[in-house]
Amino acid sequence: MKYVSTRGQAPVLTFEEAMLSGLARDGGLYVPETIPQMSADDIRSLNGLSYEEIAFRVMRPYVGDGFTDEVFADLIAKAYAGFGHGVRAPLVQLAPNHFLLELFHGPTLAFKDFAMQLIGQLFQEALERRGERVTIVGATSGDTGSAAIEAFKGLDNVDVFILFPHGRVSEVQRRQMTTPSESNVHALAMDGHFDDCQARLKDMFNDFEFRDGVRLAGVNSINWARVLAQVVYYFSSAVSLGAPDRKVSFTVPTGNFGDIFAGYIAKKMGLPIDRLVVATNQNDILHRCLTGGAYQTSEVHPSISPSMDIQVSSNFERALFDAYGRDGGAVSQLMDELKQGGFNVSQGALQALRDHFDSGRVSEDETLEMIRAANTGMGELLCPHSAVGVKVAEDLRDPATPMITLATAHPAKFPDAVEKASGVRPPLPHRMADLYERSERVTRVANDLAALETLIKERIAK
Ligand SMILES: *Cc1c(COP(=O)(O)O)cnc(C)c1O
Repeated sequence: MKYVSTRGQAPVLTFEEAMLSGLARDGGLYVPETIPQMSADDIRSLNGLSYEEIAFRVMRPYVGDGFTDEVFADLIAKAYAGFGHGVRAPLVQLAPNHFLLELFHGPTLAFKDFAMQLIGQLFQEALERRGERVTIVGATSGDTGSAAIEAFKGLDNVDVFILFPHGRVSEVQRRQMTTPSESNVHALAMDGHFDDCQARLKDMFNDFEFRDGVRLAGVNSINWARVLAQVVYYFSSAVSLGAPDRKVSFTVPTGNFGDIFAGYIAKKMGLPIDRLVVATNQNDILHRCLTGGAYQTSEVHPSISPSMDIQVSSNFERALFDAYGRDGGAVSQLMDELKQGGFNVSQGALQALRDHFDSGRVSEDETLEMIRAANTGMGELLCPHSAVGVKVAEDLRDPATPMITLATAHPAKFPDAVEKASGVRPPLPHRMADLYERSERVTRVANDLAALETLIKERIAK
């Protein structure tokens, strides 16, 4: 399996190389050259298997020869062993033909653990085998950072630096990043928004001298291995509702378009998915684009679903690449226009996107109301992101097709918003009940590329 860049100008890589490098050298994102297919029989045979077995069968064709079958199965087993639920991604029913896929039973209580725990294992194995060391730098709106730190803390061949927007993450998110005591963990609170953090990260990747000097590696959702790990739960959940013999739809609370893009990959592999519904909060660039065709950035408006407070949705580039017939030149041109503030998607490409994706936008008040209504009427305490998803799903779904809404975080990760809406303050699960007592370690940094690069070089030289 080979991986190509969405901008068409970077070297073609293997799975392992694409995973270890993150962003392509032409600024693009790696995607598989072809999508492996699963037949109806292949999909039917997943029925009744464990999450780990489904993960192995879905991901195996993408991974290539770098990892043997035995090693790959072992890494999958280790990745999910720390989850607080035996089936890893349980489905619960909310209403007739509406189901919630609980993706928050991992160590940091958000769906990011599904991918991050696995790539922590894959990185460690690959780096040990190669005798190499890398510096991971990640940008986070809260959940990616905690998941990355949890997955990479204490590993011998990795330093992990996480940039998060100072004052704009929840206390639980911050503490999950600042309380690990391992010396290879560096939490950096940066002035600005998540988009600023993401922009500085991209700048570091485009500074080749720095990139090569520190052996920079990225674990943001631009990393193909993360998207891949998320494809698995689309299969496991759809199969448990009758796929491939019954079509299902998914609604996905969306920011960087990584999670929902994984659903699109599942569909392209052969999983019979009817609609993929993008659910956004008031930061609705994706909803505006899918309805009107203009991908136009504006200011970020901080919301009670902060992990979706995003204007530049990195993984959308992967969807555009397909919508433009895999024309890297066309994608490059759009991304140049984006630097000036935005672009218009061509009619043909917009139609190609709409063949798969619907979208909806939820206001702050509607989110609070949905949390309240779900608590009283559906027996489910939702985090604000999941509430955005459930609201859009309830508004748009076809009652005849099972709808699966992804619950992306545990309500206890956002206790203030949940309490405000429902009157219930969700407690942290037992295994992390002492989070508020642990001591914190964090460095305040300016939104300044040169200063960041200097700090990283100094820290890893120690
Ligand atoms: C990251 C995150 C999202 C958005 O996921 P994308 O893959 O960036 O679209 C939604 N909800 C929560 C809780 C998250 O942590």
